[in-house]
Amino acid sequence: MNEYDSNRIEDIVKKENFIRTDDQLNTDCYVLNTCHIREKATEKVYSDIGRLKKNFKGKKKPFVIITGCVAQAENKIMLKREPYIDAIVGPQAYHKLPNILSRLKEKKRKINQTDFDVINKFDKLNFTKNNSSNVSSFITIQEGCDKFCNFCVVPYTRGSEHSRAPENILNEAKVLISNGVKEITLLGQNVNAYNYKETNKKTKLSDLILELQNLKDLKRIRYTTSHPKDMDNELINCYKHATKLMPILHLPVQSGSNKVLKNMNRKHSRDEYLKIIENLIKVRPNIKFSSDFMVGYPGETDNDFKETITLIKRVNFINSYSFIYSPRPGTPASNLETLEANILKNRLKVLQDTLEKIQINKNKSEIGKVLEVLVENKMKNQNKFFGRSEDSTPVIFTKGVESDVGKVVSIVIRDCNRNSLFGEKSSVASGVAA
Ligand code: SAH
Ligand code: SF4
Repeated sequence: MNEYDSNRIEDIVKKENFIRTDDQLNTDCYVLNTCHIREKATEKVYSDIGRLKKNFKGKKKPFVIITGCVAQAENKIMLKREPYIDAIVGPQAYHKLPNILSRLKEKKRKINQTDFDVINKFDKLNFTKNNSSNVSSFITIQEGCDKFCNFCVVPYTRGSEHSRAPENILNEAKVLISNGVKEITLLGQNVNAYNYKETNKKTKLSDLILELQNLKDLKRIRYTTSHPKDMDNELINCYKHATKLMPILHLPVQSGSNKVLKNMNRKHSRDEYLKIIENLIKVRPNIKFSSDFMVGYPGETDNDFKETITLIKRVNFINSYSFIYSPRPGTPASNLETLEANILKNRLKVLQDTLEKIQINKNKSEIGKVLEVLVENKMKNQNKFFGRSEDSTPVIFTKGVESDVGKVVSIVIRDCNRNSLFGEKSSVASGVAA
């Protein structure tokens, strides 16, 4: 989401004649887009600004703008603690950046723009053309969360669930496709809670996917991140009908223990989660899963933790994120007693080793197969190409040509490591190579 937002910020500030640069020492404006999901992010902001101050010592100071959820959560405190910051802009106010920059140019006072104004933000974003021409691009379709898991800051920093109008999403998709985009990933903090209501019509994520399926030059559709509670039958059935919908689902479960799930206020049980997985496999037998896991939620016992491990082994997640529980100020769980540091570290290690073993075995099982790979780019300074398989595993291959970029080509897999597959372009269609 922040990557998409950073790209939108780039598009928006163009209106004030600012362009993106990689040269951090030669910039008139420094935008730090932040994430508040786990701790340490706030301290990182201050240490980044400390470095910036050193680099700009004796030179004209750039405008310093902090955006994202740390800005949203800590706005006044940050402006007070770090006078080098000129503006704080929350995720709901990026469309106001041209105005903020012109006010900064006029040397107006420090700016704190952190009001919630989601509907307006989506309306404004619709006028800022998303000009991405990468083979694979994102489109934000939903923002915010009404679920209130007891550990999570998202409902407070991104506000309540809000869906963007379908015609605006489809327009953005059409522009992207005419730019050469072949794969679209629909984004939202709870993307499958997408539900746009008009007087006589309701559009859900499943409806959007079926509409995108009809766009001729689009090859692949993905979406992230989903909540188990919102995996309805229509969405599950999309895996039957929407051939462009890729056979991989990122479906965070957090824990395999019903007790922990209840304490977290996750609103789903272990069995409900497993039932969703079972139903998806029924309609798309080759579907794979990835997830987010949290270890050491307050009250998690060894047995609770073991239930997470058995769930991982049962579902065979191919690629996942895992975190130690991090108390976030203002959330209900923040007052609970945390577990000892060495227990947390050990559990994370056991969990990550389990995930790694499954991932490596899965990658090894691809050796000798021919996979359909959407080619994203030629690699820098190498005669190799980069693409992704249907389940989103990175594939690096030889014997490609420049015109393969943007196409789905057959790659015979010869080797792998934990994260990637290695192979060569093949003339054989997908299946098992000789
Ligand atoms: N809406 C998605 C996840 C959004 S946050 C869902 O409900 O699954 C992304 C991930 O960050 C979460 O899945 C969770 O694993 C992790 N996370 C959120 N808050 C956290 C916290 N306080 N400590 C550790 N990890 C956290
Ligand atoms: Fe956070 Fe996801 Fe829970 Fe919403 S559903 S509160 S975003 S973890």
